[in-house]
This record gives sequence, structure tokens and C-alpha cells, in this order.
Amino acid sequence: MIRKIDKKTVSDALHTAYDRCKTESGGKNADYIPYLKNVPSTLFGIAACLPDGSLLTVGDTDFRFGIESVSKVPTALLAMEQYSDREVLHKIGADATGLPFNSIMAILLENDHPSTPLVNAGAITACSMIKPVGDSTGKWKSIIDFLTALAGSTVEVIDDLYRSESDTNFNNRSIAWLLKNYNRIYDDPMMALDLYTRQCSIGVTASQLATVAATIANGGMNPRTRKRVFRAELTPRIVSLMATVGFYEHTGDWLFETGLPAKSGVGGGILGVVPGVMGVAAFAPPLDAAGNSVKAQKALACIARELDLNLFGTTRCTLAEPVPTEA
Ligand code: GLU
Repeated sequence: MIRKIDKKTVSDALHTAYDRCKTESGGKNADYIPYLKNVPSTLFGIAACLPDGSLLTVGDTDFRFGIESVSKVPTALLAMEQYSDREVLHKIGADATGLPFNSIMAILLENDHPSTPLVNAGAITACSMIKPVGDSTGKWKSIIDFLTALAGSTVEVIDDLYRSESDTNFNNRSIAWLLKNYNRIYDDPMMALDLYTRQCSIGVTASQLATVAATIANGGMNPRTRKRVFRAELTPRIVSLMATVGFYEHTGDWLFETGLPAKSGVGGGILGVVPGVMGVAAFAPPLDAAGNSVKAQKALACIARELDLNLFGTTRCTLAEPVPTEA
């Protein structure tokens, strides 16, 4: 069944989700990165970006927060764009580890590949692959330019967050060296780690995340700038990775409840992609025990229900608005 929806229906769903979830008080800010502990816990925003480029927002959608693990999505895409989806599958993999995102055990168990670019080990390997190999400045430019193109607006590192992460990322340092031990790192390990730490420290708004999500939903053409950012065939690849591991060890529960492929980060942001339909994002700092924003999860689950966004459902929602062509 096809359900045609319009901008107003989407906007109403965002407001309904906001009103239902705004008093939710569960969870607490991540505290293993000191900067994140001090982000105001009451911030809450939801945004959707549609294929015609319109941005619908409610709440704190202009607040810049740490992108954290959501950054693994653009860098995985960039690695697939620079190499190929096959090569990323071969060098990293696409399986959920079933273990926490920063698990050392997962690397020991699967030492033939890091499993998926959406957990720390695979993301550090992805950073090591980014071209130009051996050139930290050039690699960083590739990463930040790619995210800027996906978001359609400037993004930059939050320096205090970067310092805070760099001073405390001992577990990730162990991961980088362990990957080196298993020949699963393709550049200097500490350079790859630093790039990973820097990309996690990039500040984004919920509106920017929704635009990134919409660019993915739109097959790589940013609906706001109308510029092509990556090859259309990579959308199903990255969406499948998000579906299998986007919510850490709770990914199965999330997919069971919502059928919405999404990726969360410990900064409190979540990016959700409905291929061919829209990108959605929500942000609220307090997290559950696995590291997913409590309020943002509830809000996106509510929107998924209201708009029939479940990819496994029998109703397919489409937008009535005409879609502009590539610039
Ligand atoms: N920078 C964080 C870390 O590596 C990101 C974790 C996350 O958002 O899942 O621990």
C-alpha cells in the first residue's frame, strides 16, 4: 500500500513527537568524555529534511553538539566512495559485533576483520583508509569536506570536545594498536586514531544531521544544495550498515520497534534514513545504558509510527511534493 503524505503531515508528526517526549526525564549524559557531561541535559530538538530540500524543525535544532559516533556514517560512505563498497566490505566488514561500540573483545574474537565501520574499530580502520594515505592534513580535508557536502553547510570541530576526547581516549588507542597488530590498519595507527577522534568532535546541529540523512535518503544528491555528494548505489549499502548496528547492542530492539535504519552517537544525536522518502534527526543529551539518547529514540520511534516509516511494513509512505533535479 502507498500512503501519500505532505509537508504538513510531516510537520505535525514532528510536533506530536516533541510534545509527547519533551517531559521524558530518563537517562543521563555521557560522562566518560568530560565535555559531554556538561552539555545542558534539557536540550531537545527534532528535524526532518524532505527530498524537495525543505527543512522542518521543532525545538533546539540549531544547537551545535558533538556528532560522535554518527560521524562513522559519513566516513564509511567516503571510504566506499574513494574505494568501493566491496573493498570496504573486504577490509572492514558489515556484521554487527553484538558487543559494545568500543569493545576490545570484539577485535580479539574477529581478528580477521574489524566487523563494521560503524563501531570504533571499523571506524578507525576507515579513517586509516581515507585518501590521501600518509597525509594527515589531506585526509582530514577529505573527511570534513565530505561531511560539509552531505550537510550542505559548514561544520567544524568543537575544540574543547576534541581536547576532552584526546585526553581520555586510552581505550581507542588500544583499539588502534590492536588493529595494527592484526594488519587491519592501512596508515599510521595514531594518525588514524587522531582523525577518528577529531571527526567525533565535530559540532553539528539536528538540522544539519537531518540534511545529511536526507542526502543519503536521496541517493547521494543533497536536496538543499542539489549537488551530488556520492554515488547512488552506496545508499542501500550505508543504510544496511545503519540498520544492523546503529543502536549499539540495542539495534535489534530498535529495528523491531521502528523499522527505521538510524545511527546514534553518545553526544545525544540520532540520524534516521528512510530511503527515497526523507531524512530525520533528533537530539537530546541523556543516554540509556547502551549509549542511545532516550528522548531522541522515543521521538523518532513516534515519528516512524505516525508516518508509517517502518521499512518492513506493508505501507510505503511517499511525499506528494515534486522533487527538484540535480544542479
Ligand atoms: N568518540 C566516542 C568514542 O570513541 C564516540 C562513541 C559513540 O558515540 O558511540 O568513544
